Amino acid sequence: MERLPKYIQCSQGTLWLTEDERDHLKISYRIKDILFEETSPYQHVMVLDSYDFGPMLVLDGVVQTTSIDGHIYNEMIAHVPLSIHPHPRRVLIIGGGDCGVAGEAAKYSEIERIDLVEIDETVVRASRRYLPEIAGNACDPRICFHYQDGVKFAAQARDAYDVIIVDSSDPVGPARQLFEPGFYRSLYEALNEGGLMVCQSQSPIFHAEVMTQSYARIGRLFPHRRLYTATVPTYPGGLWSFTIGSKRALPAPEQIRFDKPARYASGEIVRRCFALPAFLREMLEKDGAAL
Ligand code: SAM
Repeated sequence: MERLPKYIQCSQGTLWLTEDERDHLKISYRIKDILFEETSPYQHVMVLDSYDFGPMLVLDGVVQTTSIDGHIYNEMIAHVPLSIHPHPRRVLIIGGGDCGVAGEAAKYSEIERIDLVEIDETVVRASRRYLPEIAGNACDPRICFHYQDGVKFAAQARDAYDVIIVDSSDPVGPARQLFEPGFYRSLYEALNEGGLMVCQSQSPIFHAEVMTQSYARIGRLFPHRRLYTATVPTYPGGLWSFTIGSKRALPAPEQIRFDKPARYASGEIVRRCFALPAFLREMLEKDGAAL
């Protein structure tokens, strides 16, 4: 039997990827084919063709994005802040190696430059080759790739960006620092007057502590902040959160206008994603208050 990649099991001739980063929850995906596998200096990188979610990017055994629902996350983390900022010219994306978010930002003709800071070049190479549905037009000339640690890159940027999007993996490995107060402070300094940042702030169900901690930390730094949600089927529990920290006053949701071509985001969804269920509002009032 040919060697199986790490994290892949074979049961009665069928291949499975089992995500088991949680103590009491395992999620298994039946796999058709292994399209790419490489161990980079940062992580184990795979692109797998799965039966139910199509081709998917997997880092250290954890599904990052899939051809079936990656657009939901990429559209929602990009279009909400880019619709709020009236004149986004310079955008910084930290993480985002599958290039999906960069592709969404490229839909704004007024944007002059998109700096994408991804620590692991392997992720970009694998995504562009095997996930064209997600990596899309990552060849837009405004997208500048920087293969380095986003923490270091942000620390040297000053008053340079209108919108910063932190499209990180979970707070483990190289992404752990992307949830730290010092990193958020660097983002604050890197933003122009009137700039705003957004980060994926994990699951309100399975990562409530990370979500409220990020919300509190961002609230300590930024005068304005807001959390919104979207449902991404491949993420544990589906419901996912995004937290905005802004130097500019945030418009009332009904004032937000969005008109770009998209498969999930629409004007109505971009306005209504800020409507939070009572349990989530209570969590933020209790645990996410800026101390
Ligand atoms: N959309 C996916 C999600 O929500 O899980 C993740 C998108 S992307 C695959 C996450 C990227 O963050 C990975 O490619 C990873 O290499 C990158 N990353 C992790 N830590 C980083 C750091 N310190 N600086 C820059 N990129 C980092």
